[in-house]
Amino acid sequence: MTFVQNSINKIKYYFILNRGTLSKYGVYQIFYSVYRKYYAILTQYYSFGRNNVVCPACGYTGRKFVKGRTGPKCWSSARHRLLALYIKNIQKLSPDCRILDIAPNISTGYIFDKRIYRNYASVDLDSPVADVHADLTNLSIKDNVIEFIVCYHVLEHIKDDTKSMQELYRVLKSGGTAILQVPFSGANDRTFESDDYDSTDRAMNLKLYGHPTHVRRYGKIDYLAKLESSGFEVQMDTYVNSFSEHEVAKYGLDKNEVLFVCRKR
Ligand SMILES: [Zn+2]
Repeated sequence: MTFVQNSINKIKYYFILNRGTLSKYGVYQIFYSVYRKYYAILTQYYSFGRNNVVCPACGYTGRKFVKGRTGPKCWSSARHRLLALYIKNIQKLSPDCRILDIAPNISTGYIFDKRIYRNYASVDLDSPVADVHADLTNLSIKDNVIEFIVCYHVLEHIKDDTKSMQELYRVLKSGGTAILQVPFSGANDRTFESDDYDSTDRAMNLKLYGHPTHVRRYGKIDYLAKLESSGFEVQMDTYVNSFSEHEVAKYGLDKNEVLFVCRKR
């Protein structure tokens, strides 16, 4: 019965997020979330011994990821699964580590299990699952206190990303690490921001940047330069290359992902 209860909670959560309105897309989202849950259960328990995939974020094992990429249990993407492996094998956070999770989701909820990481806090502009509601360009957090920050696919939604990077740098403790990921437009090294951008014109943004709420398309070289000019020492870590072909398929990783591991001296 917990499954039914969880499904009801998910629908309630949807209504909270969307301020009580239900669009056509919303009906699809609710249907899809329930479908994925069933999928997770079915593929986990009726895998007939063919447990081909493992989600390092939540521990799910089963036959395959949804559409070959989404974790059925925690809705992880390839980037969340790589983050889980990076934390487990490389970063090795202590239970006392002060962790800040920008724009939390179900996967990061599993990765940073609050029963283990006592000083974990999540921040979002308005998500009901976040511990703190705050604007990334103006955080109400003291200087130099956070030891580990994850900020995944957030900065491309923020107009003043320079101020956001400066805020992240400000709250990060000396010697601390921030992993700041954004999507990139193919092999382009240069960031693209159009003068035609209009925050209310979702169709235009979709055309310009490939997403209705993105405000730019980052290029790797420009992104690196911007992080460095905000004060970070940046290491472009190709940790994913340390996995064999078999492991890449098993964990559902993206072989092209580069981790932007940012440190404060
Ligand atoms: Zn998972």
